[in-house]
Amino acid sequence: MRILVIEDEIYLCEALVQILKGQNYIVDFDTDGESGLDDGLTGIYDVIVLDIMLPKLNGIELLKRLRENNIKTPVILLTAKGDINDKVEGLDSGADDYLAKPFNTNELLARIRALGRRRGEISENNSVIIYNDILLNTAEMKMMSGNKEVSLTLKEKDLMEYLMINSEKVISKERIIEKLWGFNSEAEGNYVEVYISFIRKKLKLINSGTSVYTVRGAGYILKKGENNV
Ligand code: CA
Repeated sequence: MRILVIEDEIYLCEALVQILKGQNYIVDFDTDGESGLDDGLTGIYDVIVLDIMLPKLNGIELLKRLRENNIKTPVILLTAKGDINDKVEGLDSGADDYLAKPFNTNELLARIRALGRRRGEISENNSVIIYNDILLNTAEMKMMSGNKEVSLTLKEKDLMEYLMINSEKVISKERIIEKLWGFNSEAEGNYVEVYISFIRKKLKLINSGTSVYTVRGAGYILKKGENNV
């Protein structure tokens, strides 16, 4: 597995590179946003560890450009701020995971393994799931309805897949957190709300007649109807 670390704090950057190499990953690094973008755009990485505050080009902007260029490499954002707005902006820009500094390197390694595994599953598993007017291509991370289609980030795809497999059943926030972030994760209920809102926007974008409904105090349900507000 090949990992790109983009971090301008030189001691942290060097430490991360050493730790990752110690796990037998192939590791490259950059210490500013512009060179990080150049490397990220090659598409050769399995995971990118991306700091937000970077010289020349910040991590959020870098991530947006990667996604605009159809680079779907899973990205873990490193942030010094615990601010929810920062998290929402990062997730909205296509990040797959978050880690607030200072972090435990074992936690980082666990998340890298999880993202790497998923990427492996994606390339092997070219499956299509259909519910009502929605067709989800999990390999290409695309969702279609009629002649419209929209790209999904890794987490959005995982969430949509889970909702579709469990369509017309109420799923609790806790189950979604377990499914998307795993047990013992630091993920909070508002992460789920953020991703549900992304899914709704995308369902609306493709004019789908399928919606995610909030069931007060219980969770969410995917079913027929136009309610993606
Ligand atoms: Ca920084």
